[in-house]
This record gives sequence, C-alpha cells and structure tokens, in this order.
Amino acid sequence: MSEESLLTTVSIEGPLSMSLPPKEEFSEWYNEVLRTAEIMDVRYPVKGMYVWHPFGFELKDRVYDELKAGLRSTGHDEAMFPLLIPRTELMKEGEHIADFEKEVFWVDRAGVDELEEPLALRPTSETAIYPMFRLWIRSHTDLPLKVFQVVNTFRYETEHTRPLIRLREITSFKEAHTAHASAGEAEAQVDEALGVYGEFFESIGVPFTVTRRPSWDKFPGAEYTYAFDTLMPNGRTLQIGTVHNLGENFAETFDVTFEDEDGEQRHVHQTCYGISERCVAAVIGVHGDDNGLRLPWSVAPVQVAVVPILFAGSEEEVMEACLDVEERLDEEGIRVELDDSDDRPGEKFFRWELRGAPVRIEIGPRDLESDCAKLVSREGEETAVPLEGVVERVQAVASEYDGRLFDEAAANLEDELVKADTIEGARGIVGRGVAVVGWCGEDGCGKSLEEQLNGDLLGALSDREGSGECIGCGSGARVAAAVARTY
Ligand SMILES: [Zn+2]
Repeated sequence: MSEESLLTTVSIEGPLSMSLPPKEEFSEWYNEVLRTAEIMDVRYPVKGMYVWHPFGFELKDRVYDELKAGLRSTGHDEAMFPLLIPRTELMKEGEHIADFEKEVFWVDRAGVDELEEPLALRPTSETAIYPMFRLWIRSHTDLPLKVFQVVNTFRYETEHTRPLIRLREITSFKEAHTAHASAGEAEAQVDEALGVYGEFFESIGVPFTVTRRPSWDKFPGAEYTYAFDTLMPNGRTLQIGTVHNLGENFAETFDVTFEDEDGEQRHVHQTCYGISERCVAAVIGVHGDDNGLRLPWSVAPVQVAVVPILFAGSEEEVMEACLDVEERLDEEGIRVELDDSDDRPGEKFFRWELRGAPVRIEIGPRDLESDCAKLVSREGEETAVPLEGVVERVQAVASEYDGRLFDEAAANLEDELVKADTIEGARGIVGRGVAVVGWCGEDGCGKSLEEQLNGDLLGALSDREGSGECIGCGSGARVAAAVARTY
C-alpha cells in the first residue's frame, strides 16, 4: 500500500464561530459539531484514525457505561484479549477470512527481524478468543460462558472514511462472545442480546429497527444475523449493532468442545454481538439541532450549565448565588458546571447549547431581585424558578427529559418507515426514509430488489408480518422487509 493512501490531509482549524451549518446540510453540520463541540479531532495524520477530545471521550464513556451495565446485569463478564492475532488462527475459518482478508492490517516485522509468522491487527476477535475458549471450556458446568470486551479493532477501509462511522481504527468495539451447550440455548442467547441492545439504545434515546439480515449480508461464518439500524437525518440508515448466531461453525473450526452430562464430547454452540462508537454518532445525529448537540440526560457530560450574568456592582452577589446553586446540584449527584470563563453570556449560551447540556441556569441581578434563577431548556424554553426550588425543578426536568427525547425520535422514525406496494412507490421512499415492502424471502429476488431500488435490503423486520404480494416477483410475501440507502 502506498504511503499516500494511509495519510490524510491536515486541515487548518478556524476560530469558533457562533453558528453552525443548518442540520439540513447534515454532512457539514455533523463535521462542524464534532469539531466545535470537541467530540473528535480529525487532524490526526493517518486516514480513518481520529482523536477523541476529552469532552467527546467522556460522552463516549457514559454511553458505554449504559451498555456495560446492561451486559453485566445479564451475566456477561468483562475480559480482554490481545490485539495481535497469529496468521494461522485468523486464516482458519474460511468463510470468515474470505470476507475480512482485504481489510486486515498486518504486522510482519519486529525491530529489524522479519516475523516468521505475520500477526494481524484484530479486525474482530473471534479468532483471538475462541482458541482460548477451547482451553477454558471442559465440561457442561463451564457453560454458558458469556464474556465481552471493549477494544480497538482495525480495518483497512478503502471507502471514504468518516469519524465515528467509517473508520480504520474503531476505537471502542464492544464485542460479546458466548458459548452454550445446545442450539436452543444459543437461540435464547440471541434473544437476550436483542433485549439488552434494545434497552441500551432506548437508554441513550436512539430509536431503531431490528431486521434479520438477508443471507448475503450476514456475518461471515454465522448461521444468521440480526441487526439494529437507526435513521440519520440525511435519509440514510446507520447500522448500530449486530447479533449473530454462530451455531457450531467456529466451535468446529477451533475445536471448542465440552463433556456433556452423559460423558460425551460435543461442540459448543456460540453467539457473538457487537456495538461500535457508531452508537455515539447515532446520539449526535438523531437528536442534534441547528444549535448543536442535544444529549440525553443519562449520558450528557454536563447536565446543567450555570451561567452568571455579571454587571458591575452586583458581581459578588451573583457569583455567590451561582456557587450556591452549583453546590446544591452537585450534592444531588447532578453533573453541573459553573461557566465562570471570561466569555460574554451569549458565547456561553452558544457553548452549552452546542455541547448539548439539557438545562442552562442563568442568574443575574434582576433575577436576584425576586430571589429567582432562570431555567432555560435545551429547546429554549425559559422558566423563572425560586432559588430555593432550583434543585427540585432540575430533578423534575431530569425525570422526564430522556423519555421525551426518545419518544420524539421514535415518532420521527415511525413516520419514515413507509409501506410501499410497488417498485415505483418504494423508489420514492428509499434515500429519504425506509421503505417497508412485502418480500418473498428469496435471495435472487432480494438482490434484484436492491438493484431496482438503488438501496440495501436491510432484511425482514422482526416486529412486522409479511402480507400480500412480494413487490419483486409477485409471489406471496413471506416477510415485511426494510429497504433503505445505508452508510
Ligand atoms: Zn420475490
């Protein structure tokens, strides 16, 4: 590979202006929000590799805390496996490697020595983890085994890269891997994973569809794949999570066996499921507005920004009131920041809207005349609240904030899931929303549909029944399938 293809152009960062491109111009808006809200810095000189700013990193961590909590509460334990995978292990599973081979970064030298066996930077970790499962699993009493890790993975993306969405270094790949005694238990595990992911996305306010991916789009080496997609404002869907039933496929390849209750050696049945930092891109894209981020209460690094309105003569009194409010909110475990920078109030308002703080509290001399503070919601609604009631009022906002955010986004997604009975009708939907069509379920017909609609067949929607005719071939529609243009 040429050096040029690995490097990105370093751009010069301009001054922070007090406005963003309108969200309708989604691509420009997205890049500018990432930059000005200090989520990612894209100036790192390797294509497809980006830097988390501290603010973005904290947001990411809080999002992943939600995810990890869901996994732990369902009996998954966190572990960590090495970044480097020996070539022989990576190449063992034929279908798997056929799909990943073109995307693998290799280490073939160490110091001045050529390595006898090249090492791959993990593109995903099945082939790092399952040789260890082989050593760990002896008997049926070792099952089920449910572990997860959050690690960076590497893929040599040749398409246009995009921060958080299409990367050469995925910095935060949460991958869970499970092993079970029977096919039925693996299937039940898929259901559990779908439930954990569903609750996770709801907790970060991101609505989704769940589809069973068509055979040509399943995880290489899996029996079948379910995927979560959300709709971004430009009409493209973003795959934000996948759940795979691996059957005995990898167990046979890596010889992962256990002794059952009758003393027989049998292969384990496996599942794996993953979520990347695309979930952070979804939070940003789904909720943001012309003024910047709108972060759910659950994950906002700053939930309440306190802005003093200072005039000569009353500064001391105002700062005292601000400090008191900050302290009382902090005592209640609310993530509060008193913005005592030298910037003008207007700049501070812009900053905290941009960074998606759900609530801003302004206190100035006029508010103090009536012992009040001004609460301003992220949507711009202003309420005068007595100083002594500020904590209760903020708690009241917090209790309904995320539910409202999710309901609003879920209603939007529902509006964009549009049923189409004809190819012509579906064509008008794909590209701005998700077309829901009857599909016979046949591969050939599905692929032809993708071509005719210039979109991707996401697969059979898990919460809808097929009815009427397949819009591709006119035979009976076995499923209701979603078709969209995708990232
Ligand atoms: Zn058909």
